[in-house]
Order: sequence, then structure tokens, then C-alpha cells
Amino acid sequence: MCGIVGYVGDGNVYDILIKGLHRLEYRGYDSAGIALGTPSGKINIYKSQGKVSNLEDFCKDKNLEATSGIAHTRWATHGEPSDTNAHPHFSEDGNLALVHNGTIENYKVLKDALIQHGCTFHSETDTEVLVQLIEYIKLKNDCSLLDAVRMALKQVVGAYAIAVIEKNHPDKIIAARNSSPLAVGIGNNEMFLASDATPFVEYTNECVYLKDGEIAIIEKGEPLKIVNLDNRETQIDVTTLELSISQLEKGGYEHFMLKEIFEQPTTLRDCIRGRVIEGGKKIMLSGVIDGKEKFLNAKRIVIVACGTSWHAALLGKYLIQDMCKIPVEVEYASEFRYSNPILDEKDVVIAISQSGETADTLAAVKIARNMGAYVYGISNVVGSSIPRETESGTYIHVGPEIGVASTKAFTGQVMVLTLLALSIAQLKGTMTLEKISWLGEHILKIPSTVEKVLALNDKIERLSMKYTYAKNCLYLGRGFSYPVALEGALKLKEISYIHAEGYPAAEMKHGPIALIDEEMPSVIIAPKDHVYEKIVSNVQQVKARGGSIIAIVNEGDEIISKMADHVLEVPEMPECLTPIITSIPLQLLSYYIAINKGKDVDMPRNLAKSVTVE
Ligand code: GLU
Repeated sequence: MCGIVGYVGDGNVYDILIKGLHRLEYRGYDSAGIALGTPSGKINIYKSQGKVSNLEDFCKDKNLEATSGIAHTRWATHGEPSDTNAHPHFSEDGNLALVHNGTIENYKVLKDALIQHGCTFHSETDTEVLVQLIEYIKLKNDCSLLDAVRMALKQVVGAYAIAVIEKNHPDKIIAARNSSPLAVGIGNNEMFLASDATPFVEYTNECVYLKDGEIAIIEKGEPLKIVNLDNRETQIDVTTLELSISQLEKGGYEHFMLKEIFEQPTTLRDCIRGRVIEGGKKIMLSGVIDGKEKFLNAKRIVIVACGTSWHAALLGKYLIQDMCKIPVEVEYASEFRYSNPILDEKDVVIAISQSGETADTLAAVKIARNMGAYVYGISNVVGSSIPRETESGTYIHVGPEIGVASTKAFTGQVMVLTLLALSIAQLKGTMTLEKISWLGEHILKIPSTVEKVLALNDKIERLSMKYTYAKNCLYLGRGFSYPVALEGALKLKEISYIHAEGYPAAEMKHGPIALIDEEMPSVIIAPKDHVYEKIVSNVQQVKARGGSIIAIVNEGDEIISKMADHVLEVPEMPECLTPIITSIPLQLLSYYIAINKGKDVDMPRNLAKSVTVE
């Protein structure tokens, strides 16, 4: 969480930084701030609570002249969202300005020690400790900013991506990372810094992702230099970006979330491309080929993830157990990392994270590797930390997801997990070639089937009116539809703030049924599958208690359609492929309910997309 941008060069520093902050706003929008280094050796800091647009209003009549600058959009961890707690933070003597993404675990100890040395703190953030500590070390040792940063970071425990500028060197930024992401863009006589590459993609496609423990010296007119905490120069690996600006814009849609929902036929096509070959007969996932022996000999697979990715992980469990006959456990990464996990080299751990930067998932990856497990990553952002830290893996290739509520990344993750299960089954011979090829043919039809489901848009928009004022909502499903119910409920609560719960339909009678009355609608996901008859009785139980029902069923359904108050029909697919299809109407339903309530669907309160803090 939190987005960092930095720039040195002859371009318009303020415009570049503000535009960059807008691109990174998905990472947090509690406050925004900017520090501009002026040619006359001053640093001007402007900051404002709330979104980047508030900062822009605040800056309207300010001096924006600059040769370098750093900027920040915050997702607060220490100290409430306020102007004072907004980054950048100044050092006591006003010589340094710093922005930070992450959390400093030992900030209290450091803060107490600095106070004893006469330092005064102005904010409640952990971040301010960093800038005061760097300044203290710099003055005490009369050393360069780089040396002070190196020495300070050796005392710091926690996660950070930082950028610091100094009054007397307005053409230089010192940046460093440990566990929080940071990328440098190398342009023509100019350099950029950002939490991901989106702020600089229109200026350069040359990008360097910093590694943990690295410090970048970004200076106008000088080549990029990277050192470690011991001041030894490290090798610079330049990546060529394949992002395009159109992927970062709304393309005529009112919100990124709606654009991303409608992109799914394309993103799923991109995700499948080259991986389902010979008309569906063969599945080719290079990551699985790389880890062939490990998958063949795996005694168990553990999938770690958070949030929406955890729901995809649960589907992964059903898919892998069913197709590959390997026992699978699914863990919340945040619980897994502190649960004294027992793993060895016969285990395969799959880590799923859209951003590839989720702090808890990344920590789980490191633990699993240390214990000797083979770790496989599934993520969307090329070059992010999880793909770099894992032995092999698969990108979902759905393009940048900017709406905070995940949509196309979820379907991409489910698609990759389906392909993963099929390719392991292919290796192990746990499925017949006929069955694999039958599923392969249907996978190729998924993008066009999703297109058909999206045609329900207008109907769902009308239907959403009836449920806009619900206070609670239950989502029910069985088998492959149970994780879909969890994901549907999460989508509704995160953007419309309606309390929603996903439940395995049969569990409902062990508690939630007590809540059902005329005021409490249920969304029931009931495609024609091997538990269809079972869910019919669950529908009857809800009906008998006066609850209204929205049912997602297959075209031509005759039983549940007659019992439900509202029906959304989707084309039939093999059972294991239905989650991608049935989750689409649920995304649209949440979107329209949130819109009817006047909520900011792309930036829901308290949330941020890339959860890079614990
Ligand atoms: N810990 C810092 C703060 O609260 C940065 C937060 C973050 O990276 O999410 O301001």
C-alpha cells in the first residue's frame, strides 16, 4: 500500500509526479503529498488529506518550480489520515524530505532514542523516524546522504520502500527497498522512480526493479547506480516494459471496475493464449514443465493467498484434488506465516497474489522456501516480488487491474489454476486424454461464453435497483459454486458497504438461516452440476422463511427458476469451468448496487489494492 513517485530531469516535475500519483492511487488514498527540490536549494512540501485531487487543489497557487521531486499517496498504518501525517516528512532541520511505503517495526525504540537526543516529532507516523534518524546520523558523522541512509537502514527492522531528497542536492534522489516494491525508469536524460512502472510507462520502457537491500542513486546527468547496504555496487538488470498507456485508462467506461469486468473476454483469451494448444488436446504451462519432478512427486500442495486470491485458491484446491489426486490445503497467508507451518521438500507451495507484492503472501513464500518446499507463484504483475522469489510460476496476463475490487484478476487466477491442475493431471496421467481434450475445447470457448454473460448487463442494472437498500445479503453455493459465493459476497461488501456473507449452502441451516426474513435477500449460485438437486432443497428452505432469492442458473433451468424471485441465466459449461462464468453476473450486481448508492467503486473507503503491509 502507499504509492511512491520520484523524478529528476528537465520535464515538468510537478505534472509528472501528480500524474504518477493518480496512476498509483489504487494503492491508497488517505492523503497525498509532494516535495519539490528547487534549483535555488529549497524543498517545498505540499500535502493534503484525501485523494490526489485534493492535493492538486491545494497546490493551485503554490510555487511549483522544481528540478526533482518525490511524491506519495498514503494508506495509513500508523497515525490517522490527516495533513500532518501525510508524507513527505521533513527532517528536523528541514534539509531532507522523505516518503515511505511499508511499516517500521522498531519505530518506537528508535523514536524514543531520537527524542532523548533532542529530536522533536511532528506526526504520529512510523515514517518520520526514518527521516529523523537519517538526518541525525548525517549530522553526527558529517557524511553524505547515501552513507547516512545506509547506516540508518541497518538499524531499521520492517518493510520499506523509501525515497529521500536533500536541499543542497536538488538533482538527486536516494531510494531504497526492503519488502516493499520500487522500480526505476531510465529515460533520456531523466529518471523516474515509482512503486510500480505505471507512472513512467509513457516516458520510457526501460525499467529496473530494485531488490531487497538495494539503494539506488538517481542523479540528473549520471547513469543509475545501485549499491547494497555495505556500499558495494550491484548489477543492474534492465527490464523492457510491455505495458501500454491505453491499458491504464478508462477507455470510455465510467469506472475502471466496469471496464475491467467488460475486458474479461479479452483478458481470458490472453491468459489462455499459447497454453491450450492443438485445439484443446494439450495444456502447456511452462512453469509446470520447469517444476515437473516436484509436481510429479508432491505429497501435498499448500496454496497461500489473501482476499480474492484466497477465493481463487479454494477453487484451486477443488480443481487440483479432483484432477490430480493430490491433497491440497488452502491457507490465509497471514495465518500461515505465524502458524509454525510444517513443510519439507516433498511439498509444493503455490502463492497467489495479483500484485505479486502482498506482504503476507511474500512472507509465506520466504518461509516455505526456507523449509525446503518448492514454491510456485501465480501473479499478474510481471517482475514483481513474488515471481522473483519463487522457483517457477505463471503470470495471469490480464493487464493492469486498477479498480480496487478485483474482477479480471480473479477470473485470470481461476483460469491459471484450472490450466495448472490440467497440466499436472496430464503429467501424472490422472485424467484420460479424452477428458483433458474435452475440457481443453471448452476452455477455448470460455472467452466467447463470458461475452454472452456480459449481455446480462442491462438486466442486472435494472435488478440492482431492487436490492440497493438491503442491509445484509447472503450468498450461497455448493461445490465449485461455494468459493464463487464467497467472492460474490466480498465484492458486494467492499464496494457497496452492505454486509454480505458467503456460505456453503448446506451450512446455512447451522446458523445463518436464523437471519433470513423478507429484508434479507439471498443470492444463490446454482448451475446444473452434481449438487444441483441438493441446492434445490436449500432454495426451498430460504423460500419457506420469506427470503427473496436471486438465482444464477443455467439457460433452460426449470426447477430453481420457478422458485426464485429473480433469475440470471448463464450458458452451461463443464462443472469445473462454471466458476468463471457464474462470477461475472455477481461482479456486475455489486457494481450497480454500489453505483446506485453513490459509492466510489474504484476507490472504496479504507481499502487499497496492493496490500504491501501486514
Ligand atoms: N507506515 C506509513 C504510514 O502510516 C506508510 C504506510 C504504507 O506504506 O501503507 O504513513
